[in-house]
Amino acid sequence: MAIYEPIEDKNGRRAYRLRSPVSLEPIGELECATSEEVQTAVDRARAAQVAWAATSFEERAAVMYRMTDLLIEQQDRIVDTVIRETGKPRAEAVSMEVYSSCDSLVFYAKRAKKFLRREKRRIHGVLGLLKKAYVVYKPRGVVAVITPWNGPFVLALNPTVQALMAGNAVIIKPSEVTPYSGALVADFFREAGLPDGLVQVVMGDGRTGADLVAAGPDKVSFTGSVATGRKIAVACGEQLIPYTLELGGKDAMVVCRDADIDGAAKGALMGSCMNTGQYCCGTERIYVVEDVYDEFLAKVVAGAKALRQSDDVDATDVGATFWDRQMAIIEDHVDEAIRSGARVEVGGGRNPELDGLYFQPTVLTEVTHDMKVMRDETFGPVVAIMKVSDEDEAIRLANDSPYGLNGNVWTKDAARGIELACRIETGAASVNDMALSYGVNEVPFGGVKDSGVGMVNGPEGLRGYCHAMPIIVHRFGSGPASSYPYTPKTAEDMSKAMKFFWGSSLMRRWFG
Ligand code: NAD
Repeated sequence: MAIYEPIEDKNGRRAYRLRSPVSLEPIGELECATSEEVQTAVDRARAAQVAWAATSFEERAAVMYRMTDLLIEQQDRIVDTVIRETGKPRAEAVSMEVYSSCDSLVFYAKRAKKFLRREKRRIHGVLGLLKKAYVVYKPRGVVAVITPWNGPFVLALNPTVQALMAGNAVIIKPSEVTPYSGALVADFFREAGLPDGLVQVVMGDGRTGADLVAAGPDKVSFTGSVATGRKIAVACGEQLIPYTLELGGKDAMVVCRDADIDGAAKGALMGSCMNTGQYCCGTERIYVVEDVYDEFLAKVVAGAKALRQSDDVDATDVGATFWDRQMAIIEDHVDEAIRSGARVEVGGGRNPELDGLYFQPTVLTEVTHDMKVMRDETFGPVVAIMKVSDEDEAIRLANDSPYGLNGNVWTKDAARGIELACRIETGAASVNDMALSYGVNEVPFGGVKDSGVGMVNGPEGLRGYCHAMPIIVHRFGSGPASSYPYTPKTAEDMSKAMKFFWGSSLMRRWFG
């Protein structure tokens, strides 16, 4: 049964019926915004942004702190909405959606002023004697935030907080699979006292998202699949709109011969099964050096067997798969792997005891890179483990992928862990931990290869919601570097100057 399915148009709009992945019971209907409504929202945002851009960082931060208080006081409102749409365990709804949101709000409220303050840059060489340079971070205007269903509240909130702190207005287009969790972000901002029009939500499907990009925002912050990311890149390219694309991954985990095997086994289970495996930085492929393979596998199998799965969100470790489309992908990958010779150590299929969308925590071995489960994004609670002869083979296999989002290395030698992590072709990595990179606000995050374009989060991400505008000031009165009329001597003088400034190693040191 489909989690969301089209129903007859309502009020001239496309409409869908939504169901709970836990019970498959209907939980509501989604009416898509029309393209005119989307355009009106963008125009309204553009008008509201002018006054917001003139506010101080302290005024913006005050809204973020009020919002944080509301999130803490009313966390059940968020958790209940997220659980209704996704069937996540309550612990994951609180940690991933509410805790991370509060962390993001306070982090950027506290630091945006420092990250975005006007910078003075020293100009090198002789020009520096005559000119001063500043870089001013100016808000871009209206940011379109288009989000997926796997972290439906936090993935709408986090870019929105950054865009707002940088002085922009935001239009959120939440996933059609989890629309009400995304819409809640705007409700909370309104209640926190954010002026009208600065955060709006357009509800709808992929066409609504395309309408939003076509409506001409000043930046698109997209999180979602590679296929949609490519379409957005084309649409933005046609209009020359800047964008960031946070896309899918196939993250590798490398277990070295000197790893803490207990910790690595726990990391493998958490990395593969957290959020029911529907986590962009989830661990999808595990390469274990043969010396420690048996010990590692025994611990992972024991741990996987101990994981609870039930439709009681307060008594389960691995929750529902949020969407039947994802369930079909997980089943396809696991079934194909089994048909091609993979060995099922634990699980291997849907949970027969539950009516909803539940795939059992699964451990597969004897997997190869010919199988989809090692090549394409599975996004399910599947721990796929391969034995390798040494760390070099592990890195070679880790890099045999079109994706490059995140990865992790497990070794007691942290310096070697960093060195191995650097050799993985990936946007981010961790040593002796999993899936952390998106949640550490100090650092930028973004994929390489098919996993994305641009960086989000951290000072770099925050600055991405701005145009870095250089302003060059002449120090003494006014004066261009050369003036009319040009004579043969003008070019001759320039040639002599080049030779003088950069023609010897001594002068290069001074003027370079
Ligand atoms: P999706 O691409 O199907 O949809 C994402 C959003 O794009 C939805 O809101 C959808 O309505 C909208 N959309 C669809 N077509 C569009 C179009 N033509 N123009 C504009 N918008 C359009 O992705 P999904 O299935 O919702 O999300 C799962 C994917 O997201 C996974 O691949 C996962 O790895 C990835 N993801 C990445 C990150 C990251 O930070 N890199 C984080 C979370 C999820």
